[in-house]
Amino acid sequence: MICPFCRHDDSRVVDSRPVEDGTQIRRRRECPKCNQRFSTQEVALLNIIKRSGATEPFSREKVLVGVRKACQGRPVNEDDLVLLAQRVEETLRSTGQAEIEAQEVGMAILSPLRELDEVAYLRYASVYRNFASLEDFEGEIALLRALPSSTKETNSTTNSPADNRLSI
Ligand SMILES: [Zn+2]
Repeated sequence: MICPFCRHDDSRVVDSRPVEDGTQIRRRRECPKCNQRFSTQEVALLNIIKRSGATEPFSREKVLVGVRKACQGRPVNEDDLVLLAQRVEETLRSTGQAEIEAQEVGMAILSPLRELDEVAYLRYASVYRNFASLEDFEGEIALLRALPSSTKETNSTTNSPADNRLSI
């Protein structure tokens, strides 16, 4: 790291500490030439490239706003949405890329949203994938029907305690 004071091309780390819940690291550095100290900060990058070409940091809040709208009136609670936004961020980070197209964020939302609520998914997909006709909806619904049901069928073997009572 180049010294911002004398432009010397090396600096020494004198202190390093995690900040913001460990999602960032701040380092205190010292220039061996002019002995000035300065700080640097390291964060895991995840920037979104908007359609305009501008980039902005990924925001879970923006994901939440989008899915919350699609889930209006649906039996989905806020905790589910927060978890979904977290999954979306994990999916995007797991690509290892520092910059991701906004379109990809939309695509990363589709799969967990489908698991959460199929109606909300259809609403979201219709906007995101530019459904233009009834046929688009029909095609998507056919796909949903073909998917293995996501309903959690708990095959819990409940042992019925039929003869637990002691007969006197
Ligand atoms: Zn220096």
